[in-house]
Amino acid sequence: MGLLEGKNALIFGLANERSIAWGITQAFHREGANIGISYAGEMLERRVKPLAEQVGCKWVEECDVTRDDQIAAAAEKAAQNFGKIDVLVHSIAFAGREELTGPYYNTSREGFKNAMDISVFSFVALSRAFQPLLNPGASLMCLTYYGSVKVAPHYNVMGVAKAALESSTRYLAYDFGPQKIRVNAISAGPIRTLAAAGVGGFRDMYKHFADMSPMRENVTIEDVGNAAVFLASDLSARITGEVLYVDSGFNTIGVQMSAKEEKSE
Ligand code: NAP
Repeated sequence: MGLLEGKNALIFGLANERSIAWGITQAFHREGANIGISYAGEMLERRVKPLAEQVGCKWVEECDVTRDDQIAAAAEKAAQNFGKIDVLVHSIAFAGREELTGPYYNTSREGFKNAMDISVFSFVALSRAFQPLLNPGASLMCLTYYGSVKVAPHYNVMGVAKAALESSTRYLAYDFGPQKIRVNAISAGPIRTLAAAGVGGFRDMYKHFADMSPMRENVTIEDVGNAAVFLASDLSARITGEVLYVDSGFNTIGVQMSAKEEKSE
């Protein structure tokens, strides 16, 4: 029997087969969850529907998280279709390309607001809108990145947004705790996705990560999917307000040496 058998799971932020949300969707499907998928933009027919079909998902709803009416409509449709929800995954972020290169001090007011709205506030808004549907023991989760706690050049306003997202995770965990609903974040190492392509210098960072992480390996969407299964399942029943690193140990390194330097020792 799968770890998520009998659980209803909603996943927000599926764009294509490279999306972290797709790794999570596949892992949830493998573990027997009943899945609903939400997407934004115009990818529905071409990208999202064929993926949803692969996991037998019939609930595919558009939801632009900058729109309160669309969030409310998604919650209403989820209530009609699923009744109650056990798992909600927020795998959404956005910052304009111009904000993800050059110095952080060049961030525009509009760019700052947009990044915060789409990448942070949306998690709060979804949590509030879906609260009436959540079963006791439900698990909410979001995706973050190490650029929240240390400087990752070019990550800029998105690093600041991820810091706010991780802090929001702790506040939401506190709010929902009495209802036995858990809220956690997964901090994934760099993965080649649509969103990542917008970050200046991503290719170099991706390579550097594989050279420098203790496990000398990049992270895959399957790795993140498996960690998400753990957080979604009852195996993590007393874990809330946490940031779980899925990064081959990269965040544990204080001083980095290249493989060449290490060999010469
Ligand atoms: P992705 O496939 O491009 O997913 C990002 C998703 O955010 C897309 O589905 C996108 O939809 C959605 N989105 C953007 N604006 C939205 C809006 N207004 N309303 C609703 N959805 C919106 O990239 P990803 O890398 O898998 O990103 C998923 C999450 O993982 C993000 O939070 C990201 O910061 C995080 N993360 C990524 C990495 C990495 O290296 N890739 C590492 C750590 C954490 P559209 O494309 O249709 O706009």
